Parts: sequence; structure tokens; C-alpha cells
Amino acid sequence: MKTKILYFDAPKLTQNNSIIVFTGTDERGFYLIPNESCFFPGGGGQETDKGELVINGEFFNITNAKFIDKQLRIYVDQTSTPLYPGLSADIIIDPVKRSLNSLLHSAGHLLSSVVYEELRLDLQPIKGFHFEAGSHVEFISKSGINQVDLNEINYRLQQNVAAKHPFTSKIVSSKSKEYEDAFSITGFSPEEDDAVRLVTIGGFLSYACGGTHVEHTGCLEGLKVNGYKQKKGNLKIKYGFEKAVEGIKSNTSHNCS
Ligand SMILES: [Zn+2]
Repeated sequence: MKTKILYFDAPKLTQNNSIIVFTGTDERGFYLIPNESCFFPGGGGQETDKGELVINGEFFNITNAKFIDKQLRIYVDQTSTPLYPGLSADIIIDPVKRSLNSLLHSAGHLLSSVVYEELRLDLQPIKGFHFEAGSHVEFISKSGINQVDLNEINYRLQQNVAAKHPFTSKIVSSKSKEYEDAFSITGFSPEEDDAVRLVTIGGFLSYACGGTHVEHTGCLEGLKVNGYKQKKGNLKIKYGFEKAVEGIKSNTSHNCS
């Protein structure tokens, strides 16, 4: 059975009760498959959640997670406690890390849209790295653009933050016109008739994405690009936040709803 993905519609959910439907071992180690999960295994540039499982009162640190055949394999260190299908498992994620990941990942989306669609530069986003250290979006350029006006990008980012465009998502068929019209990231090729999740900011192009996002662009206050560098013909534009990251970490601010 497929693992039900709870973070698609509830990105702020930080814990859920699940039933283990399968256990096994592969080259990454011992894993279990829950029937549903709030834990995001990473992907699309977004860092994996940090979290743990509580099974019969015992804590198990989640060491890795990966989707294989639409089932979420959650890896834990094997202990002497036997884990088997049918057991109830509470999945608990680090809420601060999740907020931070949603913020940084959403920022990657907005930066891509601003550069590609608003400024209409010959820079097509192909990859993101939305980790706190070294956040950037990588763009490919047919004409070999090797520099950008950071002030111009920052001005546009600020305008979009002020506009509070909503982040919305929906599941569509990979055969649908909506998916055809969406922006596709290089290397992403779903099966011919598959369900694909599209994420959209306001009126920008949709992206196929399985990550977690903030509610609207107003949550990205303080987002700024702060440099760029060319690598193998591609341009990496770096970004970061003023204050928002510290606010999330100290749990003092970042109320953007
Ligand atoms: Zn996304």
C-alpha cells in the first residue's frame, strides 16, 4: 500500500500516529513503512526532516528516509526491540527544522519565478539547494549569462513578499494539460499516467514539487539574494534571510499567517 503523505495538505503537522505496514532491510539498513506520515524525506532541493518514532514507549531516531514505489521507507537503527507490521508508531518531527526547511524551500521557488518569469532573464532554474548553509538556485543559460543585478532581483523579491501571494498545491495527472503547462525541472519524468503534485505561487507557473511550503510569500520577509557564481556554464544565485531564520530558531517570531 502507498504511504499517505500528510505534509502535502498539512505542512505544519509535526506528529502523527501511524501503523507499521511493512518492515525490511535494504542496502541503507533496516526500515519500516508507515501507513501515513508527516515526515518529509527530502527532495526537490529541500532538506530532509529530523525526527523520531515512538513505538511502545521506546524512542527510535530516524536516520534516513526514502520513497520507493510510493512507499516511504523510514530507516532506524536496529535495536533488540523487534519491530514488525501491525505495531503502532508515533512519528514526531522537529518543528523548528520543518519551519526552517519550508521557509528556505519556498524561497527557492520564489527566486526561480522572479528570475525566470518576472525578469525574463535567459536563466532557467534547473536545481535547488535549499539548505540553511549555502542556499542557492542553479540556473542554466543558453546564451551564457554570467552575471545578474542583485539589487534588481532583491527589489522584485521584496515586491512579491509585500504582495503576499498564496502558495497552493494540487494533485493532477501527468497526462493533464495543467501538468503539460507547468514548469518542469530537468530530470523529473513521472510515469506516463501518474499523479503529480503541482505547487503554484500566485499567478506564476506551477512546479511539480513534493516539498513543504509557507502559506504565502509574505512569510518570506527578509529574503535576499547575496551573490552568484558560475559553475560549468550554469549560474548559481545564492540567497538567505535577514532575521526570519533567527526568529524561527528562537521561536520568538515568524507569525506570518
Ligand atoms: Zn516546493
